[in-house]
Amino acid sequence: MEWRSEPVAETITCDVLVIGAGPAGLAAAEAAARAGASVALLDENAGPGGQIWRRSSSGLDKNARPFATQLSELGVRIVYSASVFDLPHPGVAWAETLDGVVSLRSRTTILAPGARELFLPFPGWTLPGVAGVGGLQALYKTGLELKQKRIVVAGSGPLILAVSHYFLQQRIEVAGIYEQASAANLRKFAFSLVSHPGKLRQALGMASTAGRISAGWWVKEAMGDRRLESVEVTDGTTSRTIPCEYLACAYGLIPNDELPRLAGCRLTSEGVWVDELQQTSEEGLYCAGETTGIGGVDLSLVEGRIAGLAAAGKQQEAKAFFPERQRHRQFASLMNNAFTLRDELRSLAADDTVVCRCEDIRFKELRACPDLRSAKLQTRCAMGPCQGRICGAALTHLLGWEHDRVRPPVSNVRLASMMAAGQSEIQDHEMEKQS
Ligand SMILES: Cc1cc2nc3c(=O)[nH]c(=O)nc-3n(C[C@H](O)[C@H](O)[C@H](O)COP(=O)(O)OP(=O)(O)OC[C@H]3O[C@@H](n4cnc5c(N)ncnc54)[C@H](O)[C@@H]3O)c2cc1C
Repeated sequence: MEWRSEPVAETITCDVLVIGAGPAGLAAAEAAARAGASVALLDENAGPGGQIWRRSSSGLDKNARPFATQLSELGVRIVYSASVFDLPHPGVAWAETLDGVVSLRSRTTILAPGARELFLPFPGWTLPGVAGVGGLQALYKTGLELKQKRIVVAGSGPLILAVSHYFLQQRIEVAGIYEQASAANLRKFAFSLVSHPGKLRQALGMASTAGRISAGWWVKEAMGDRRLESVEVTDGTTSRTIPCEYLACAYGLIPNDELPRLAGCRLTSEGVWVDELQQTSEEGLYCAGETTGIGGVDLSLVEGRIAGLAAAGKQQEAKAFFPERQRHRQFASLMNNAFTLRDELRSLAADDTVVCRCEDIRFKELRACPDLRSAKLQTRCAMGPCQGRICGAALTHLLGWEHDRVRPPVSNVRLASMMAAGQSEIQDHEMEKQS
């Protein structure tokens, strides 16, 4: 078979390139455009809003719509269904779009690729009917029928309450909410909300979930013949079996740090390191939102504004948002402490539990390896379509393994797109040598 490259469909040149149209990217693009910069905004989704303001079958989310209107009035070039797969040099990015491969050239770049859910393997977690918490909500919003079904929500973090509340509002049966954090931690966190009135109001708005939460409980096993039929939950001393058709389970969020790592950005234990203006360790490359650390939508928005202004050269204006960011960072730190994961979750996977779902690799094969690199070489773990986004993060938690190196493409794109980008880079290099 002959592999063919294809011509580059378009080159977009702008002052500020924003990758990710979730709350952080939308706020960044708007701030940069208002500051007078020419801006391009890309997202691999088919519309704006990211995770929290995801488009549903009934249209754009009410929070994303005003951003979309303002951005088009400000002349921002917006490309949806565009996966950025490589950042070969500062100011250069490559994306695959519905029209082909697109080359992006910018003076500064803002990375806002958000976060994903953390899944920790337990027996039965690969059965049909078991999904992520935000994942099941997204499936419902895009058409999965959940009415007349019993759902168990489990895992950790405010997302499990937000999603349970959403399901209850939609009149979907939530058979139980199992939060692994202890009741004492939850009480402490609830009292601390007094100094964050906005968050307190949000929490009170989710009162419908209160009577259903079992704190200090987690899922031990998902059971069923061909699909999920019940789950066993435990508090470490007793267990219960709950019949259900769906289990929504995730242990909080982790930053999508592949693009920043590809660009060589420094990391911290929370996410991508940024200075006070949201600039990463790479000059001209900014990062905003959950990729710098998990902190909720308000922190994402303010970080986006600061990054947008700073990337457009308005550093003084950006500083006006520092106190607001500080307030949201304090809340983020309270939240992350309250939902620290308990040690028992490290020992849920049994020998024959599949950990790498793409390549079907079981826990016992992985335990024999010293690190992710050797697991990749010996078992093909983390070498499938998700490139370790699910199992890599789980293994960091279960076995303390470090991330492996990131290489392009960071998203699933066609070989022709990679070849087009590669050939164009070689031509540019040749031209530079000749001039
Ligand atoms: C599955 C899920 C569901 C959630 N649901 C809720 C909820 O119901 N309520 C709530 O309060 N919080 C929710 N959150 C948390 C919420 O998403 C965050 O607090 C906030 O939205 C983060 O904003 P962000 O802009 O940093 O990232 P996101 O909203 O995640 O946006 C990042 C955007 O970047 C895009 N992107 C990533 N990589 C690329 C790439 N290579 N090329 C192009 N585009 C790319 C993604 O498509 C996405 O649109 C959820 C989180 C997740 C992971």
